[in-house]
Amino acid sequence: MSEPILFTDLALSEPVLKAIQAVGYEVPSPIQAAAIPVLLQGGDILGMAQTGTGKTAAFALPLLSKLDVKQNDPQILVLAPTRELAIQVAEAFQKYAAHIPGFHVLPIYGGQDMTSQLRQLKRGVHVVVGTPGRVMDHLRRGSLNLNNLKSLVLDEADEMLRMGFIDDVEWILEHTPATRQTALFSATMPREIRKVCDNYLRDAKEIKIASTQST
Ligand code: AMP
Repeated sequence: MSEPILFTDLALSEPVLKAIQAVGYEVPSPIQAAAIPVLLQGGDILGMAQTGTGKTAAFALPLLSKLDVKQNDPQILVLAPTRELAIQVAEAFQKYAAHIPGFHVLPIYGGQDMTSQLRQLKRGVHVVVGTPGRVMDHLRRGSLNLNNLKSLVLDEADEMLRMGFIDDVEWILEHTPATRQTALFSATMPREIRKVCDNYLRDAKEIKIASTQST
C-alpha cells in the first residue's frame, strides 16, 4: 500500500486541517504519515524518532482530531523530560487547536507557581503537558483527575530515563485508566524503555524514522 501524501487523505478533523493549512505544512512527514492513521483509530505507537522529524504534530494532530471539547477533564496527557519541551509541546497543541473554540492546554512543571496551576486545573483543561515530578505531585494532591484520560504520550522517553524519571513515569502509567491509548517516542531504545513498552503498550505499531529524515 502506498503512503498517503496529503493531510486531507488522513481523516483528520476539519478544525485541525484548517490549522495545518494556516501554519503552512504542505505534506505529512514520514512519521506523521505512519502515526496519524494508527492514533486516529485508537492504536498504540512506539515511535523511534528524534526531534526535527515532526513527531509533535504526529501525535498532536490525531489526538486533537478526536478530542471532545465539551468534556472538561484532561483527555490527553503528555509527559516530557524538561520544562522547555513541555512548554514547546503545549504551544504546538495551542497552535494546532487554533480553530477549536474553548480548547485549553496546560503545561505543568516544577519550579512554576503552584497556585496558578491549581486554579487552571480546577477551571478545566483538555490537555496537560507536564514533567513527571510535577504531574505526580498533582495526582497525589488530587488536583489532577485522569479518570477520563483517553491518550497518554511519553515524549523523549530515553531522556526521561536518562534524567532518572523512569520510576515516576511508571507510577503515572499505573495511575491512568487501563483503557487509555499510549504513544511512546524515543530517539534510542535502551533496555529499560523496551521494558516499559512491553509492560504498558498494547500491540503497538513500531515506527522507525531515520534521523536524517527531518521535516
Ligand atoms: P518536531 O520534530 O515535532 O520538533 O518538529 C520539527 C519542526 O517541523 C517544527 O518546527 C514543526 O513546526 C515542523 N513541522 C512539523 N510537521 C511539519 C510538516 N508536515 N511540514 C512542515 N513542517 C513541519
